[in-house]
Amino acid sequence: MARRLKTPVWVYDTDNNCIAYANEAACAIWKAENEEELSARNLAEGMSLSVAKRLRQFQADFSDSDAEFSEFWTLYPNGEPVTVKIQYTGYVLPDGRMAMMCEVTGEREEEPETLRSTEALLHTDVMITLYSIEGAPLYMNPAARNALPTNVSGFSDLFCQLGDFLHMQADWEVRGASQRVAKMSTSFGTKWFDLSVKRCLDAATGESALLVTAVDVSELKTARDKASYLASRDQLTGCYNRSFMQLQQEKISANTESEGASHALLFLDVDRFKQVNDSFGHEVGDTILRTFTLRVQAQIGHTDILARMGGDEFVVLIKDLKDRTALHELLEAIREELLKPVDCGSVQLNVTASIGVSIFEGGARGNWSETMKQADVALYHSKRSGRNRYTVFGKALGAEVLERSWLEVEIKKAIEKKAFALHFQPRLDIRQGRVLSAETLLRWDHPERGFIPPDQFIPVCEEMGVIDELGAFVLKRACRQLGIWHRQGFDIDLSVNVSPKQFQDPDFVSLFEDMAAEIDFPTSRLELEITETSLFGDDAEVSEKVHRINELGFRLALDDFGTGYSNLVHISRFPLKCIKMDKSFVQKLPMTGPLLKLILALANQIGATTVAEGVETYEQLNWLESQGCDQVQGFLFSEAVSGDALANRCFEIERGLRKVA
Ligand code: C2E
Ligand code: CA
Ligand code: CA
Repeated sequence: MARRLKTPVWVYDTDNNCIAYANEAACAIWKAENEEELSARNLAEGMSLSVAKRLRQFQADFSDSDAEFSEFWTLYPNGEPVTVKIQYTGYVLPDGRMAMMCEVTGEREEEPETLRSTEALLHTDVMITLYSIEGAPLYMNPAARNALPTNVSGFSDLFCQLGDFLHMQADWEVRGASQRVAKMSTSFGTKWFDLSVKRCLDAATGESALLVTAVDVSELKTARDKASYLASRDQLTGCYNRSFMQLQQEKISANTESEGASHALLFLDVDRFKQVNDSFGHEVGDTILRTFTLRVQAQIGHTDILARMGGDEFVVLIKDLKDRTALHELLEAIREELLKPVDCGSVQLNVTASIGVSIFEGGARGNWSETMKQADVALYHSKRSGRNRYTVFGKALGAEVLERSWLEVEIKKAIEKKAFALHFQPRLDIRQGRVLSAETLLRWDHPERGFIPPDQFIPVCEEMGVIDELGAFVLKRACRQLGIWHRQGFDIDLSVNVSPKQFQDPDFVSLFEDMAAEIDFPTSRLELEITETSLFGDDAEVSEKVHRINELGFRLALDDFGTGYSNLVHISRFPLKCIKMDKSFVQKLPMTGPLLKLILALANQIGATTVAEGVETYEQLNWLESQGCDQVQGFLFSEAVSGDALANRCFEIERGLRKVA
């Protein structure tokens, strides 16, 4: 019967991509001589992927339900396009497989542009759906149909968060359109879509409708989420980073609701991290930082934020501080947690941390930069008072800040005006009973304050970054003084203190190369007192520096030995001509006797001169003499005196005139 139908009808075998049956009219439309010739054609040839995909989708739809579709399709009989409207229904082949009955219900002769856009609509991956204003689907392009889950009755059901739908609805009701990225359910699970909704009229009924286009942006979204996660995290420890903390700060300052609420800002710093890193290697350093992060994280609340600001500096933001007791308990808990030894594979290390805290108000009344400064001052205070402790910023520290700013201003002025003077403390050789050398010590007589000791201003100069300048000044003046003495016939050596910051300066050595290049410069008469801290760092670099200075003929002394790490390895590894034992050691005799003996023996082994500093009593002197210590320096003989007074002072010492009881 169908064979006689005037309308073209054929059955398409989707599995085999061929026509299983066709009537005459169909043969005509396909430009085939007869049915046999048509069914021999392999229609898979030249078929686009999206068409193949859609045909499989049709077949699945027919198997699932009595589906029926009507669409414009472009056929390509012998390569020439013919656009017709086709009605598709399921058709079961005699062997039981599902096929597709195609019936041409209309031809279309339209502008090529229209045809192309229709084609595009059918083949695109963008999902295009027309909904009635109540949300029932009126039309779906194949991509949309493909993605639609089976259990959905209307547009709003597709949204994973109803809020997204309501937000868009409010938009299109007011503005006629809406755009949003939202999470939606699809037949392949939940995905992120860039949705755009426009109010329009349904061409078929003239009623109000919604045209929805949806582009799958899941991959983009995941990539962006990952990027923003990475942008806010510290790579090494996984905790937040500096830029995230910056955002938090902006939030807290902008949040007027939190006006009056107290927050705490903690600055945490691993004690002597640089030394550990330099001595045990970066891997051990990294392990320490990661362990540190985990331990702090475990102590703070889940709304509090831990961020690594760089190096071994961490910040914790504690929001909505309830009471001070709880804060102190937390700080103590963090401190104790950090005291546990850290397992670094080959070694177990004990590390501590210093903490500085500032409490501040949320909202516009809080002053963030002031808070940062206060936490920094509190941290600095913890470090200076012996580390492994916390300090909460208060009024007393506030006064310290003022004092500190005053000091910075005054130091700048003093450097400019060359207001620092050099004094010299004699160093006596015990066996010869003669002064062989003197130590250069900086003196600052402030016009209003009077004497300010170097222990107070040198660390500030180091932090201000002016120690190089000051150090160069000292060196120049010291050399000049040495020249004056030698010309006067006063035969003496001179030592100069070198700050670790100065020593680390890459140009440090060139300063001495210049001096050594001067005619008649007595390099062997000048000694540089460096501390152990200067020897930490890149071994090769330090070693190169030390050797070069030695080569030029200058001597190197290790100052303050007995404080800090007192790593005996340092004594043997570097060509040091002199070991100066710290005054705190000498003053704790006889308790420190065994250790001093060890240092003396070791220094003897490498042929270094031994100097005991801070000798104040005859008991100390006698003990040192009995143990074979070479030289002594201390108030028992003389404090530091001016360049003009030194020769006379040395004479007095040697004559035994200045021995005090
Ligand atoms: P230092 O290098 O250990 O210098 C020895 C300090 O011990 C000097 O303190 C000296 O006056 C003091 N002293 C000497 N004998 C005795 C004693 O018998 N008993 C006691 N209690 N103290 C004694 P000063 O001059 O206050 O210097 C302190 C520190 O400042 C120095 O310690 C040194 O580290 C630093 N310093 C001084 N001048 C310079 C300098 O030109 N450059 C650098 N970088 N640091 C300097
Ligand atoms: Ca010294
Ligand atoms: Ca010293």
